Amino acid sequence: MDKWGGQLALEQMELDPVFAERMTRKAWGENLRRCIQCGTCTGTCPLSEYMDYGPRKIISMVRAGNKKDVLECKTIWLCASCYECAVECPKEIKITDVMYALKQQALLEGKSPKKLPVPVLDREFFNIVKKRGRNHEMWLIAITILKTNWLIGLGLATMGIKLMAQGRLPIFDEAIKVGTGKKGDLKKIMDACDEIEREEASA
Ligand code: SF4
Ligand code: SF4
Repeated sequence: MDKWGGQLALEQMELDPVFAERMTRKAWGENLRRCIQCGTCTGTCPLSEYMDYGPRKIISMVRAGNKKDVLECKTIWLCASCYECAVECPKEIKITDVMYALKQQALLEGKSPKKLPVPVLDREFFNIVKKRGRNHEMWLIAITILKTNWLIGLGLATMGIKLMAQGRLPIFDEAIKVGTGKKGDLKKIMDACDEIEREEASA
């Protein structure tokens, strides 16, 4: 990298000028322009050392319109929603809400890291509840492992068998009855969520 490497990298980024405005709207009108880049959020975040970009950098990237890198990063999925950053931010920016908005957008655009368990688990949980009216823990774990890194499953097999033997991870878990009634209502709610997401994605 030459002495202008940083500047060149910035110029080579694909910047989307409307991205920041869109994320601002999604994060309940959170005004990212107020951010003074003080770094308090990254300093207080208990997970920043595991993130590819700290929260301060994420805010900066969103403002710059660096949509691709933000939506494909691991940071937004590692955020544990502890709100520590939002509490400490001197500009009262709700960084956690911005993270939620970014996660939603990444899922809508299919940009979330394919082998990272959290986004896969999020989507599969939604699909299982939509189909059965309730979660099925064993199926959720199994499908998440298969879609991310099935080798992890080998290491977890012994624990899974023990939990099954103790009845804490049932193989057969009763679904909410198909048809009218509660399941019908739930399906309408889930379909409405899907519809809202689709509308927001195209907005
Ligand atoms: S703490 Fe607030 S003002 Fe400081 S960098 Fe983070 S978001 Fe910006
Ligand atoms: S809410 Fe997320 S980004 Fe903020 S401090 Fe907690 S883990 Fe870090």
